[in-house]
Amino acid sequence: MGLPLLEDLPDPAGKRVLLRADFNVPLKDGHIEDDLRIRAALPTIQWLQEHGAEVTACSHLGRPKGKPDPEYTMDPVRERLGELAPGVELMENLRFDPGEEANDPGFVDRVVEGQDLYVNDAFGAAHRAHASIVGPPARLPSAAGRLLAREVEVLGGLLDKPRKPFVTVLGGAKVSDKLGVIGALLQRVDRLVIGGGMCFTFLAAQGHSVGGSLLESDRIDDCRRFLEDAGDKIVLPSDIVSMGPSDEVRTMGADVPGGWRGLDIGPGSAAAFSDEVTGAGTVLWNGPMGMFEDERFAAGTRALAHAMADAPGFTVIGGGDSAAAVRRFGVADQVDWVSTGGGASLEFLEHGDLPGLQALRKASNAPRD
Ligand code: ADP
Ligand code: MG
Repeated sequence: MGLPLLEDLPDPAGKRVLLRADFNVPLKDGHIEDDLRIRAALPTIQWLQEHGAEVTACSHLGRPKGKPDPEYTMDPVRERLGELAPGVELMENLRFDPGEEANDPGFVDRVVEGQDLYVNDAFGAAHRAHASIVGPPARLPSAAGRLLAREVEVLGGLLDKPRKPFVTVLGGAKVSDKLGVIGALLQRVDRLVIGGGMCFTFLAAQGHSVGGSLLESDRIDDCRRFLEDAGDKIVLPSDIVSMGPSDEVRTMGADVPGGWRGLDIGPGSAAAFSDEVTGAGTVLWNGPMGMFEDERFAAGTRALAHAMADAPGFTVIGGGDSAAAVRRFGVADQVDWVSTGGGASLEFLEHGDLPGLQALRKASNAPRD
């Protein structure tokens, strides 16, 4: 069965529609730092309103631990939503109730009470088997919203029919977060380029010294196995920007001596990685190349961001901190797709499916094929 889309819903005119959105926006002192996730739901909201529906939205925000917490009230989101999409109601933070994360059927009943139809547009939460994600499709005619459908189309396309060569660039802090997706992607990619903190566990597996750089010793064997099985596909940095004992910053080769911490890929690696991106038919990038929040270690990530922007191939950013990086470097508009889900995009790429999508496909109105 395929994913039911908005067009597969019974006529929404005069109906009450429950919209599960991902309004988990970054907050600072009670103010929204970036309203992208609210704006990302607007095409779906507009379609529903144009078709005469009464929309009630719901979302989680932060990690309030199953009880009301004023720090995570939806009030700032409700205010911004009211400006962007007048007439939409917004429930209080779903995670104020322990039933949301526990997928408690009684909580599902309360969430869907009085609603006629359900739409899931929360790609960023679709990897969680939580009440508001997997519960409603068993009770109401349901559909994927525009954002969710497009995320699945783009990321599914990377798995099914990527234009070759298909290059994936991975970075970020922890290799353990990404072992599953590395294993899955190695089956499909022509090149796997690895930078960021996670490259040091791979470099250690090759016998390089990593000094005080990020290292997950218990994952060295996993990295060694990947290198043995697919070593010709894996590209690692040949130079590193490191910080020494008295905070001096220096570019060095792939060996980082004791007392030094590797915090960015070096210029030679940045150029080589950029060439991989430029030569690709399809590029997926997830995870910054260094500790880019600190300008001294931002050059590798900036170079990658610009390479993504200039690349002639189909370019996709896998959400999370890499999405923040392309926005910060002003090139988000020049990338073909910036996923709104970090963890969700990795899980989708690893497993080819998500609990929230499986639930929608089982809805009574889902198309049969
Ligand atoms: P994403 O959210 O894109 O998946 P991660 O959350 O895995 O990425 O990692 C992002 C974090 O990794 C950033 O905060 C960045 O500072 C950090 N990071 C990247 N490279 C290094 C490094 N060499 N040393 C320490 N931290 C790093
Ligand atoms: Mg992150």
